[in-house]
Amino acid sequence: MHPFTDTGLVVRTYDLGEADRIVTLLTRDHGLVRAVARAVRRTRSRMGASLEPFAVVEVQIAPGRGRSGLGTVRQASSRESLARPLVADYPAYTSGCVVLETAERLAGEDGAPTPRLLGLAVGALRSLAEHRRPPGLVADAFLLRAMAASGWEPVLDCCVNCGVVGPHRAFHVASGGTVCVHCRPQGCAMLTPGVAEHLSALLAGRWDAVTVSSPAVVRQASGIAAAHLQWHLERDLRSLPLVDRGVIDLVQSDEPLPVAQPFPAEPLPAEHLEESRARTTQIP
Ligand SMILES: [Zn+2]
Repeated sequence: MHPFTDTGLVVRTYDLGEADRIVTLLTRDHGLVRAVARAVRRTRSRMGASLEPFAVVEVQIAPGRGRSGLGTVRQASSRESLARPLVADYPAYTSGCVVLETAERLAGEDGAPTPRLLGLAVGALRSLAEHRRPPGLVADAFLLRAMAASGWEPVLDCCVNCGVVGPHRAFHVASGGTVCVHCRPQGCAMLTPGVAEHLSALLAGRWDAVTVSSPAVVRQASGIAAAHLQWHLERDLRSLPLVDRGVIDLVQSDEPLPVAQPFPAEPLPAEHLEESRARTTQIP
């Protein structure tokens, strides 16, 4: 394969050996790309500064061969770095980590273009860096919109099973939306009034409606969004519990929500882990 250039968001980095770094990029045209940047941890490397988490970069990559698929970064130039304002503000930073981790998981491993997911992720990070909205709400809005972009938009205005128009009070995570009284299976969360409307407003970007929701509605909506995402990803997001929204409050649930089994962390092929004791620098 020939080298290619692309625009990407750095979602994760690992130190490799003495001076190299492995970067994971969510790129516009090549999906998730992992590549080694040589000697970027030396103080005089200009490329190193642009290959940090939260950076938007223009990169030239030589694709890798073999099982690992690990490419090589030939050139990288910064287009936008959102790291400094995010790292300086812990609530914005933890929400930013949720954005990076969710984007990485949703992108999948098939190398398909992800222009919409990349646009949503960079937009959410900009909003966090500029303190435009409460960080927890920005993270929730991103989760819902990124899921919608992946074909997993929760059904909120009718029964997900029979289609009867709502609003319905029961939400069933495994079914992907609200359910009517006739279709209601075991294990539904009972929604506090206003939660379905809050989730719809987050999806549509109606911030006027979102910002007047009560704390109880915001908390439960966050829990529903997270449970819906984790059900689809079939694993836990490590950064999600760090977002300060208070306790996730799934009131009146008649059964515990289905909890996805956490997978072991496996972002790097084993041969690279053996090469160096890789250390993540993104998620605390
Ligand atoms: Zn129904």
